[in-house]
Amino acid sequence: MRLLVTGAAGFIGSHYVRMLLSDGYPGYQDARVTVLDKLTYAGTRTNLPLDEPRLTFVQGDVCDLPLLLDLLPGHDAVVHFAAESHVDRSLHSAAEFVRTNVGGTQTLLDACVTTGVERVVHVSTDEVYGSIDEGSWTEESPLLPNSPYAASKAASDLIARAAWRTHGLNVSVTRCSNNYGPHQHPEKLIPRFVTGLLRGERLPLYGDGRNVREWLHVDDHCRAVQAVLTKGDAGETYNVGGGTERTNRQVTEILLGLLGADWSSVEQVTDRKGHDLRYSLDDDKIRRTLGYEPRITLEEGLASTVDWYLAHPGWWKLLTRSPLSGG
Ligand code: NAD
Repeated sequence: MRLLVTGAAGFIGSHYVRMLLSDGYPGYQDARVTVLDKLTYAGTRTNLPLDEPRLTFVQGDVCDLPLLLDLLPGHDAVVHFAAESHVDRSLHSAAEFVRTNVGGTQTLLDACVTTGVERVVHVSTDEVYGSIDEGSWTEESPLLPNSPYAASKAASDLIARAAWRTHGLNVSVTRCSNNYGPHQHPEKLIPRFVTGLLRGERLPLYGDGRNVREWLHVDDHCRAVQAVLTKGDAGETYNVGGGTERTNRQVTEILLGLLGADWSSVEQVTDRKGHDLRYSLDDDKIRRTLGYEPRITLEEGLASTVDWYLAHPGWWKLLTRSPLSGG
């Protein structure tokens, strides 16, 4: 088995590859992995076990068709994580989001069709559904994205569907809720707040902090991606939730407690433009059809994540941060 994993110098893709190469996924002990990553500000080689002989790292762009046509032959499957992923950045520079998330997905899937790749998982997000005041989205809910990031991911999901319908590509889509865990870029809410507290900075909380997100540990997300890769059906979409809904205020409260700080460290800042109020996924389908269940509670996951940032200041101090926190 030979896998090509895009965007795996970033947060979630690198966790997936580290798990795969440390034999975390049954049946994949002999799998070889090619990572294709452009190494934008969000990706770093230090996230990957580069001395592992089963890993090949290629620095390159998912929009580069000749490169993909050269690279893909011999690979059995593709897991597509590469994306511009930060909502705040998409508010200021949407073009790069459309280029990578829409154009890159189209180019990658075209190349998979041309070279006969047998299986593809396209990793997407709950943000494609928009915002929901009550209840939860199923996979049949309409796509009503509100940010340029979410709109570009929604477009990429539809491109994946079209590749399946038109060309018969064996592709499935996952739509996951907010992830947290080790190796997440300090521009995102949880690492931003943890590293901010460690630096003695004040934490910029958007608006009144009542926005609700459903948090999932990256390890659970990656197990879901693996379940979809191995057992998912072509043309199907799978929500990956976790059921742990918390307001940004509640998450902040937990982090303050874990790091021995209080609300005097928090500053309310002007709300994000078009800030979605609430995300909530109905993930019954993946639980029922693929037997997947999240394992890590928010409390234990946040505690171990804080420990990781405490133990790896060299990692996060090297990465630049955007001025505001997102999620
Ligand atoms: P990330 O920003 O940490 O990593 C993205 C990676 O993609 C980086 O290594 C970057 O260098 C690479 N990349 C960007 N543009 C590229 C290009 N044109 N060609 C090749 N590589 C490129 O993102 P993440 O948080 O790990 O998210 C991974 C995927 O999961 C994304 O598709 C995102 O939409 C999705 N997702 C993320 C979350 C979350 O909470 N972080 C939740 C649901 C879904």
